[in-house]
Amino acid sequence: MRETFLPFAKPDISEEAIADVADSLRSGWITTGPKALKFEKSFGEYLGVPYALAVNSATAGLHLSLLAFGIGPGDEVITTPMTFAATANTVILTGARPVLADIDPVTFNIRPELVKKALTPRTKALIPVHFAGRPCEMEALEEIAEKNGLVIIEDAAHALGASRRGRPIGSPARQRQAAVFSFHPTKNITTGEGGMVCTACEDAAERVSVLRQHGMSKGAWNRYAATGTPHYDLLFPGLKYNMLDIQAAIGNDQLTRLASFNARRREIVNMYRKGLEGLPGLALPPEPAQGDVHSWHILTPLIDIDYLGFSRDEFMARMRELNIGTALHYQALHLFSYYGREYGWKRGDFPGAEFVSDRIVSIPLFPAMTNGDVADVIEAIRRVCGR
Ligand SMILES: *Cc1c(COP(=O)(O)O)cnc(C)c1O
Repeated sequence: MRETFLPFAKPDISEEAIADVADSLRSGWITTGPKALKFEKSFGEYLGVPYALAVNSATAGLHLSLLAFGIGPGDEVITTPMTFAATANTVILTGARPVLADIDPVTFNIRPELVKKALTPRTKALIPVHFAGRPCEMEALEEIAEKNGLVIIEDAAHALGASRRGRPIGSPARQRQAAVFSFHPTKNITTGEGGMVCTACEDAAERVSVLRQHGMSKGAWNRYAATGTPHYDLLFPGLKYNMLDIQAAIGNDQLTRLASFNARRREIVNMYRKGLEGLPGLALPPEPAQGDVHSWHILTPLIDIDYLGFSRDEFMARMRELNIGTALHYQALHLFSYYGREYGWKRGDFPGAEFVSDRIVSIPLFPAMTNGDVADVIEAIRRVCGR
């Protein structure tokens, strides 16, 4: 057994990033400024998207994107039950109503044919989630959106570096569309906390930019920098969702390392396949569709609870005893008490998500893992599965 605890995820911050954070701290300019602008520029260029707007979390980015496209009271927004709470919460905070469409229990992504069934005259937007970094069936969802005049906000928190049929996730084909990334410490790159809104829509980009900074027509950098003017107008009642230069300093360095991070993630997934494929008691998720790139943000096997005779939670506890960390992404949204009370959602409503929610577990996957770490996880899983 391992001597030390292996977490399921851990950020990898370089000395260069640490030095650049110190540079910001010493410079006298620590909030949004040149480093945030640079991060937006390189991020937009990397994806080939016209507008990339840095914010202080993906949650903020989802909220702003919904507001920027005019989603609000009386509207319905269709999303997946297999996601983090922020996806639905931000819909609720605009005054709109979240509506769920069930997932495919193999890909864990929303099923376009069930999105069609969930449409009503009040439907205004779709929020697909590229679960674990596996691209959703975007062309089917985009066709539904086109036919019904819907906005698409992609929750791309898991999907930095992923692509669908040659198109990078985060470079939307449509105007009424945005994609939102997260830089939380467990994500493919981190800024501590942070997020990015990507869109080809100039009007939405302008609104996100203004709304993230109180609704003011100019950001602080423009007002206080040597060349700035002190005046601003107040265009809308906005929020305070801007990204600090301290965060962007980390992000600028992380972005240069994304390709090698994701290549290492891919390598680790291959090692897990070799060590675990065919093991009774646990099923690894399939490879992405032909022509798609998966970003392997998390690796989420399903536990065969009937074969093992114990629950997923028990599986996690036994892994913990062997000094291996795991995580739960996610309990299906409709099984949380708030949504049940507010929207009447209950067990039985979304069987695909429930099947996955009861069996899913995230096993350690992060670029700084050694091959020895991976071997330890494989051995621990084989022990827990009785092999
Ligand atoms: C991490 C995550 C979020 C929230 O990201 P933050 O940057 O922590 O706000 C939203 N949706 C999904 C699917 C996530 O995994």
